[in-house]
Amino acid sequence: MENTHIVTVKEIISRTHDVKTFRVTKPGNFSFTPGQATDLSLNRKDWKENKHPFTFTGLPSDDYLEFTIKIYTNPQGLTYHLDTIETGEEFEISDAWGAIEYKSEGVFIAGGAGVTPFISIFRYLNKQNKIGNNVLIFSNQTEDDIILKDEFEKILGKNFINVITRQPETNYYYGHVDKFFLEKEIKDFNQQVYVCGPDEFTKNILDSLKELGADAEMLVFEK
Ligand SMILES: Cc1cc2nc3c(=O)[nH]c(=O)nc-3n(C[C@H](O)[C@H](O)[C@H](O)COP(=O)(O)OP(=O)(O)OC[C@H]3O[C@@H](n4cnc5c(N)ncnc54)[C@H](O)[C@@H]3O)c2cc1C
Repeated sequence: MENTHIVTVKEIISRTHDVKTFRVTKPGNFSFTPGQATDLSLNRKDWKENKHPFTFTGLPSDDYLEFTIKIYTNPQGLTYHLDTIETGEEFEISDAWGAIEYKSEGVFIAGGAGVTPFISIFRYLNKQNKIGNNVLIFSNQTEDDIILKDEFEKILGKNFINVITRQPETNYYYGHVDKFFLEKEIKDFNQQVYVCGPDEFTKNILDSLKELGADAEMLVFEK
């Protein structure tokens, strides 16, 4: 049986109009690798079994665990309820699991909340002064949807590339992360490419990358 842990919410930080960061207590000896996730539920009688995957966005060395969560409007959904909780609330979480981990320098492509595994990875690389030439291509509907914009700008500088799909007057690239865009932005398809986002987003990008000659084994994505 999978190990579970009860953690207490210590801090809630608003990130965008529909994204919040939750910092919770860290159980003794708990460990994760940047990019990994956990099954999380509210530690309330009727909610305990309603588990959903969320990614650790803090550093393994932090003395708290952190989640950065997009809130949806479905009143039956977990995230709708997460929007109303206060500090002192308890979550139940599983041990860490997940397929995304940093292997070598490359291009990270994220759609919306799909950026969460990359938050921990970039913070980790930055802390070790190993950010190198890694690139983040981040696709959002509008500029207001960009999670941790200032932090990514600071960590990545010109290697933080925003794509905006539904706000024509944006100062960023307006359009989609499609084959044309990938060919323009990625100089070397023989490097590590990490993709994370909604299923359709991930599938379309992987198809385009393969057509452009990227090695399928070099692609890392959450199935
Ligand atoms: C490995 C993994 C890691 C994940 N990590 C994170 C993370 O770190 N942070 C995070 O925010 N999410 C993460 N997710 C996604 C997260 O698990 C889901 O978003 C969450 O379970 C939704 O729960 P809910 O009950 O509130 O969903 P519901 O409210 O029932 O919504 C379910 C789905 O319906 C759709 N939907 C609902 N309302 C709307 C709306 N208004 N507009 C458009 N679509 C809508 C969305 O596709 C949504 O995912 C991760 C998923 C996986 C597989």
